Amino acid sequence: MKYEIHGGIYEGTRKAKLSVGNGRRNQAVKRARATLLLHSCCGPCSSAVLERLVEFFDVTVLYYNPNIEPEEEYRHRLSEQERLLSLLPGDVKLLPCDYDHAAFAAFAESMADCPEGGDRCLACFALRLNETAKQAKAHGFEYFTTTLSVSPHKNADNVNRIGEAAGRQAGVKYLFADFKKKNGYLRSLQLSKEYDLYRQDYCGCLYSKR
Ligand code: SF4
Repeated sequence: MKYEIHGGIYEGTRKAKLSVGNGRRNQAVKRARATLLLHSCCGPCSSAVLERLVEFFDVTVLYYNPNIEPEEEYRHRLSEQERLLSLLPGDVKLLPCDYDHAAFAAFAESMADCPEGGDRCLACFALRLNETAKQAKAHGFEYFTTTLSVSPHKNADNVNRIGEAAGRQAGVKYLFADFKKKNGYLRSLQLSKEYDLYRQDYCGCLYSKR
């Protein structure tokens, strides 16, 4: 079975649309409440994604972002993620993990000159999604996915291709999504304002700060 999200949710090969808040089919999915581990890159991006996903899934967030530099910035974004979860309605938990910057530095230094969106970013997606898939498997989640596609700077096809491969390798289902569709990015801006979230002005690594 394959799910995709483009503002609504699609299930199976027929891609029957399950619009949020609409119809008996939607109610059936709501009752199922499958568990999902959501890789979140930051509080602002996760705000609009969580708003959509909690309609259908029992969501836990994994903030695994060893790409973020310096560590102080990583901790600041993490604290904003925690603050958002404490403010949101419902009970979305955070699965703790370490700041594993060496895992990113191991390949990123040799790719310092890659433009944003190039090979360094694809490796960065893979690092984060492979770990999320492993954690999802280890903790018994039925699905995993990521907030990354909400960004207009990130190609959803690349994110989904890498996520699917990570899921296949770990043995856990990847939820296909393009969260920027249906004004997903705009909604993240609105929610960031509503919750007064810190919005960083660079992607995460120091190479993206130039
Ligand atoms: S620009 Fe962003 S996605 Fe690309 S390597 Fe840096 S942190 Fe990762």
